[in-house]
Amino acid sequence: MTDDYRHPKCYVNLHGGCSSKISGEHFISHSLIKLYTFDDPEIKILHDHGFGIPHPVSPKNFYANVLCTTHNNSLSPADSAALDFATFLRKIAIQYLNGNGEWGEDEVIEVSGDDFQRWVLKLLATHAAASAFASRGSKVVSPITEEAVHLLLDKAAWPITWGLCVAKEPGNTYLKFDPFTDIASVTSNWWSAHPFFRNGDTALCGGVVELAGVGFGLTLFNQGRESLEFDSLDNPIRRSLQRPAYMEWELNGVKKRINFIWDDSRHSFGVTYTMVR
Ligand SMILES: [Zn+2]
Repeated sequence: MTDDYRHPKCYVNLHGGCSSKISGEHFISHSLIKLYTFDDPEIKILHDHGFGIPHPVSPKNFYANVLCTTHNNSLSPADSAALDFATFLRKIAIQYLNGNGEWGEDEVIEVSGDDFQRWVLKLLATHAAASAFASRGSKVVSPITEEAVHLLLDKAAWPITWGLCVAKEPGNTYLKFDPFTDIASVTSNWWSAHPFFRNGDTALCGGVVELAGVGFGLTLFNQGRESLEFDSLDNPIRRSLQRPAYMEWELNGVKKRINFIWDDSRHSFGVTYTMVR
């Protein structure tokens, strides 16, 4: 296989480097499904919006053939970052029991921000590539832009005005930030994905992905943080914090903290969510 081989079904085949074998890319990381279903062989999973996989299947079959084996494997650090994030919050949520259990001691973990950001983009792109998003009642076709491929493959740096963001303060109902007081975030509703499209719904330009009760906005466009419209009520990323240095939940002075490690050094702000019991 030459380095410039482009597998026709691989959505990151722009620069070649594909293997001849296509692989099943899970719509949501298989390792995450296992975490939340205890690897139960009886568990079935589906998309509930009529597209993608509308009928229940086993987790091992919850995939689309949209990445070659080489590119699928090269993106696995992104899955690891998401798994680390979810494992940490899920464990705390289970022990806290919606306020009826124990909050415990200070805890802190590190997660690669770059890999986590890539995981959010990969999840959105995989759904888009497999026409698994509903959009104005029809399926979306061929929506992965060249910019998205460059960012997924780390062939370009993220423009400073693009990328991941999280809730910074209450008042944004699109971005969830409480993983601990809604038990559904560790049982049934532990993930979701909602895309942003442009150009007549033909290009994926971001979205909101929830994992473990936390919402992440992601844009492949200038977020317009300097503009007045940024704070308008219908902006899903209003009042958000871009590429956080950390996310931290504090109860009675005890902190559970996720430090995001970024390749560049311009991420000086984090966010602390103060909880009351
Ligand atoms: Zn490929």
